[in-house]
Amino acid sequence: MEFSKPDIIIIGAGLTGLTAAYYLRKAGKKVLLIEQHNRPGGVIRTITEDGFTFEAGPNTGVISSAELVQLFHDLKLQFEVPGKASRARWIWKKGRWHALPAGLLSAIFTPLFKFKDKIRVLGEPFRRKRHRLNESVAKLVKRRLGKSFLRYAVDPFISGIYAGDPEKLIVRFALPRLYALEHKYGSFVKGTIKRRKIIAAEKAAGITKSVFSVEGGLENLVRTLIREIGEEYIITGAMDVRVEPLQKKFACRFNVNGESRELVTERLISTVDGLSVASLLPFIPQEVMGKITAIRYAKVVQVVVGFRNWKGIPLQAFGGLIPSKEKKDILGILFPSALFKNRAPEGGALLSVFAGGIKRPDIYLKTDEEIKTIVFESIKSMMKCADKPDLVRIFRYEKAIPQYESTTELRLFTIQEIEKAYPALILAGNMRDGIGMSDRVKQAKQIADQLLVVDNS
Ligand SMILES: Cc1cc2nc3c(=O)[nH]c(=O)nc-3n(C[C@H](O)[C@H](O)[C@H](O)COP(=O)(O)OP(=O)(O)OC[C@H]3O[C@@H](n4cnc5c(N)ncnc54)[C@H](O)[C@@H]3O)c2cc1C
Repeated sequence: MEFSKPDIIIIGAGLTGLTAAYYLRKAGKKVLLIEQHNRPGGVIRTITEDGFTFEAGPNTGVISSAELVQLFHDLKLQFEVPGKASRARWIWKKGRWHALPAGLLSAIFTPLFKFKDKIRVLGEPFRRKRHRLNESVAKLVKRRLGKSFLRYAVDPFISGIYAGDPEKLIVRFALPRLYALEHKYGSFVKGTIKRRKIIAAEKAAGITKSVFSVEGGLENLVRTLIREIGEEYIITGAMDVRVEPLQKKFACRFNVNGESRELVTERLISTVDGLSVASLLPFIPQEVMGKITAIRYAKVVQVVVGFRNWKGIPLQAFGGLIPSKEKKDILGILFPSALFKNRAPEGGALLSVFAGGIKRPDIYLKTDEEIKTIVFESIKSMMKCADKPDLVRIFRYEKAIPQYESTTELRLFTIQEIEKAYPALILAGNMRDGIGMSDRVKQAKQIADQLLVVDNS
């Protein structure tokens, strides 16, 4: 039976909300999760169909935070990590794939970067650091490494993570580790060398920076969290959720199964996206909320394509990314069946093709038939496979990936001000603190820890 008087209500049962709920429940708090969709998990969803197991949302995460390692340990879950053979990243240039250099020798010989930029990299440790608080990723990379590194390493990398535009993303918010290398250590090269001991210590603590999934797909992480929290503490299908302050508490109103409900809580955590938060908190004046809702989200289309009998090029990589300069209709292709077990029938292959993003919002609006044509043509020319696939599924995300652009500083300040004015309210979710699964778990765990410290003091 759910709580009629929860200590804490969490809005949104994606990875952030579920992780926070798990730790708070574990500490004995009466937590209730309220989710608009009919299933918890947010964008994480694994589907098994016709012998293929595929992700509708994220395909992999990166083991990059102590909190993620801790969560897996606490849930007694194992990371599934790809073997060495599939760790290469391919980049498309002038009609063929090239492996992104993983060592010095390959960096010298790669055709991805211009000779003058390769020479320029040698001077990177001696290049002056600049204090430009809101510098874009593109400006920083051009300044320290050169244009060809921006075009053929950073631009595709940004497509792969943010589906974003390096000219618009602000380094200190979008890539805080890269920002710290210059600002703390003076240069990328010096920072990488000086951080070697820290990286070794992190590795020893399990923060391997490897990509991961979970055996059987990422939804098994979500299912484990739901089981540990208790399904009865998650209200799904909650429509028109609205929150109003009630002296020091909050009233949360919503409709579920045609019935309207009201719950009062001591604390409220929002994990919804930076656009949905406006209707959730109607008591925040529009001129204040507008500073949060100024955030842009990249629209992404993911097309899962399965072949029972793969006759294309050998899938000896994590996947391939396509630089904007190459002017293609897709952002990249992941090879999940090369990374993880049982994703495709023996001898077959499963590919995940990503398209759209902040630079190509038009793709999201195309019909399924148009999208299929784009994807089949791309697979034919890039993967050398003209066969008709045995499985095709299209997943569209209107608010796939938040963009930490020039509106970020004001958004973060506004969130802080709202939290100061309403100390029982926490505004979390992917509008701050990072966009990856590892970041989401980190934020959720830190919020849970903070609340538990406050309550026990
Ligand atoms: C296509 C795609 C690919 C991705 N690839 C990767 C990847 O390779 N690696 C990686 O680390 N990360 C990736 N991500 C990002 C990663 O999936 C997210 O960071 C993470 O899953 C987000 O979790 P969340 O709980 O913060 O948000 P969500 O999963 O979006 O959950 C938020 C929840 O809030 C609910 N909600 C919203 N508004 C309301 C409301 N008004 N009332 C009630 N409920 C509401 C939503 O229904 C949703 O369930 C990808 C994301 C997408 C979409």
